[in-house]
Amino acid sequence: MRFSAATTRKIQSVFLSEVENGIRQRPSSLQMENTYIPELPDGTESGLFLALDLGGTNFRVILLELENGVVVKEDVKRYHIGADLRVGCGIALFDYLAECVSDFVIGQGVQDIELPLGFTFSFPMIQHSLEVGILVTWTKTFNCQNVVNKDAVLLLREALERRGDTKVNVVAVLNDTTGTLIQGASQDRNTAIGLILGTGSNACYLERADKVQHWETERHGEKEVIIDIEWGAFGDNGVLDFIKTEFDRENDANSLLVSSFTFEKYISGKYLGELTRITLAKLTKEGLLFEGHAPGALLTPGNLTTDLVSHIEQDTLDGGSNNTRDVLARFGVTATEEDIAIVQYVCEIISNRAALLVSICLATLLEKIDREESTIAVDGSLYKHHPRFEGWMNQYIHLLAPGHKFKLMHAEDGSGKGAALVAAIALRLKKRLEWEAIGD
Ligand code: ADP
Ligand code: MG
Repeated sequence: MRFSAATTRKIQSVFLSEVENGIRQRPSSLQMENTYIPELPDGTESGLFLALDLGGTNFRVILLELENGVVVKEDVKRYHIGADLRVGCGIALFDYLAECVSDFVIGQGVQDIELPLGFTFSFPMIQHSLEVGILVTWTKTFNCQNVVNKDAVLLLREALERRGDTKVNVVAVLNDTTGTLIQGASQDRNTAIGLILGTGSNACYLERADKVQHWETERHGEKEVIIDIEWGAFGDNGVLDFIKTEFDRENDANSLLVSSFTFEKYISGKYLGELTRITLAKLTKEGLLFEGHAPGALLTPGNLTTDLVSHIEQDTLDGGSNNTRDVLARFGVTATEEDIAIVQYVCEIISNRAALLVSICLATLLEKIDREESTIAVDGSLYKHHPRFEGWMNQYIHLLAPGHKFKLMHAEDGSGKGAALVAAIALRLKKRLEWEAIGD
């Protein structure tokens, strides 16, 4: 679980080679998807926009008013998507999404206004353009029939048309990672990387357009474009097997999608708690913890969530043990001083490995894009709430990409604000093309 310098460098070089293979359309565990977003917000974005956020913990519909690239007003409504809809018929899901849009838009009294919509659809997609996103596979808690290999934008447009009670116009599809980069860029022009550390993990970055081979629309002299790495799947082809431990194997075996999302299982909020639980259970079984007697609650997969790991890590930072005792008490364990020290150590090892892995990949990206200064826009509860992640990342990225100036910046709500900004950029690109056509 602790990497040597040699292992660290090996991960760095494997990641770089997967990145380069992916961008050249050679076999790679990284999809390196073209988002067709060729520019950042320029501070002229103004007007009313809708954003839809599907794929996070909540489904949200958001109305945003932008004034010169800044959100000046925001109204949000969250809607529950029941299990029956999440794993049912695809048409029913999209009809429900359209119903929520109508409910919200009519509730806001803006049903007669033409509203451009940015659709944050945080699932792996193949994009044919900024407004075509073909679902590659459902993930998280979704598994609807008849949507894989179909265009999520078209399905949404058709559902909106079936209702016909609003003037909503879907102009762009994106994921939360891209939205985070764009939202970050509206605050800091040096933003070149977007990162999600929440339930899942993913990153995207600004790539030189001439390096990108998958480009299905006509080119218009774009200099750069955002590439969605889809790094949750890094290692699904076996290239990361050299770091896999018995704990990772068990974590994978207990997961919903076995043998996929390899990298995500090392780093994201959905899994760090479970990795900790597996390790503690093993130590107990070997008689090294809790005098060899683990309560049933600790032996059940999914019972130790990542927020509890954060809670325990806070003790390590403070040199205390109250949080750790509190967590263990919930599991019905009375722990000795030694048990407490071991539990804190395990939480540290697992959290630290995750922060190092993320940093290795970010450092590789910083070296690859080689800018004078880069800001990394980050969102997600793991980053926000884990008390040590950000500090470790700052430290490790400095070490691994020496000479590259960078800043980690918390960019809140890329899937909402970022989506509105992407919709505004999409409109700007469209208008520019129309002008060019007139000029011709
Ligand atoms: P999502 O990724 O679903 O859009 P978030 O970014 O809020 O939403 O991430 C939620 C995930 O973050 C939870 O599933 C959990 O794994 C993790 N998480 C929540 N609270 C904490 C915390 N205090 N410390 C570390 N991780 C947390
Ligand atoms: Mg999210």
